[in-house]
Amino acid sequence: MILIVDDKSENLIALKKILETHNFSVDTALSGEEALRKVLKYNYKLIILDVQMPGMDGFEVAEAISGYSKTKDIPIIFLSAVKINKQFISKGYASGGRDYLIKPIDPDILVLKMRTFIKLYEQTDELNRVQHALMEEIEYRKEAESKKDEFISIASHELNTPLTSVKGYLQLAEKSFEKDNKDGTRMYLDRTKTQLNKLNQLVADLLNTSKIVSGKLEYSFREFDFEPFLDSAIDIIKQSFPHKNITKNGTADVRIHGDPLRLEQVILNYLTNAIKYSPDNDEIFVDVALMPHNKVNIKVRDQGIGIPLEKQDQLFDKFYRVEESSNRFQGLGMGLYICAEIIRRHSGTYGVESEPGKGSTFYFTIPVKSEN
Ligand code: ADP
Repeated sequence: MILIVDDKSENLIALKKILETHNFSVDTALSGEEALRKVLKYNYKLIILDVQMPGMDGFEVAEAISGYSKTKDIPIIFLSAVKINKQFISKGYASGGRDYLIKPIDPDILVLKMRTFIKLYEQTDELNRVQHALMEEIEYRKEAESKKDEFISIASHELNTPLTSVKGYLQLAEKSFEKDNKDGTRMYLDRTKTQLNKLNQLVADLLNTSKIVSGKLEYSFREFDFEPFLDSAIDIIKQSFPHKNITKNGTADVRIHGDPLRLEQVILNYLTNAIKYSPDNDEIFVDVALMPHNKVNIKVRDQGIGIPLEKQDQLFDKFYRVEESSNRFQGLGMGLYICAEIIRRHSGTYGVESEPGKGSTFYFTIPVKSEN
């Protein structure tokens, strides 16, 4: 839309008529003040501005318009009486004008100029838009790059920790062996094994994450009984963490169509997290229940450090770790992301309820075979 600013309404009407017959849409203002109000409120592609007006003159209005970031690129064309001197013209350009129209106006020249300036304005606008999008894209890249660097540094640290322990325990085992100390050798070899298992888990998580990203995580679906499956998963954890009390409540004597190894991965992950994030409390509960609409629900409850409410909806995101606890507990933030992917693949739902200092309940629900 073009804005014409002139204190004489007969001039406005005449200009408006010429432009409208050439299909331009036109708005008008009878003073500089009114023009300023309008440019801030509406979007114009061009402004025709009378130089001599009572109150704010055209130059003052142009200066104000080119001072606002919203309007600084709108081309301004001054409208002036025939006799203007050089000084007047330079003042016009200095205040942000692009061109002059001398009264009386030749309609053909007017329309040609309007077309050229509007085209220029549209091109500038498009260029600005492209530049803005490019800048955003560059920023986003930069951001991804720094996230990647951060991840590599955490991952190297996480992998290095068990590796260093393995080296240390093997040296101790060797010394015990040289001294014919069978018990010592066995103890250090057991610790080596624990560290190797950690390492193995980290590498498996890294591989799983990269497979999820590329859509290549394999599943092998079959039918199986849920109850013995759940008991066996809990037993694995009980054997690895004999000092923790894991209590199962409820039963679900149903059959599931799913990938038992992947679902076991979810349960083991929920349980190891419950243990890891409750260093001062040994009680863990697994609640299993059948839900309406042929679903089974599994909850893993701990009485550990808990999670602030505002962090809870990000827990299942890739590489997300709660900042407050990330220094105290090792991890890469991949476990829950992998769980979420596996549960979704089983048409299930997942979530968390937690209170800082009181503990967390991580749950998931998956469909059971409908004939149950
Ligand atoms: P990791 O434990 O390797 O950091 P996860 O993806 O398993 O990665 O968990 C993501 C984050 O969720 C953890 O860093 C931790 O902050 C939080 N979290 C997970 N489980 C619990 C829990 N039971 N109690 C408190 N915080 C937890």
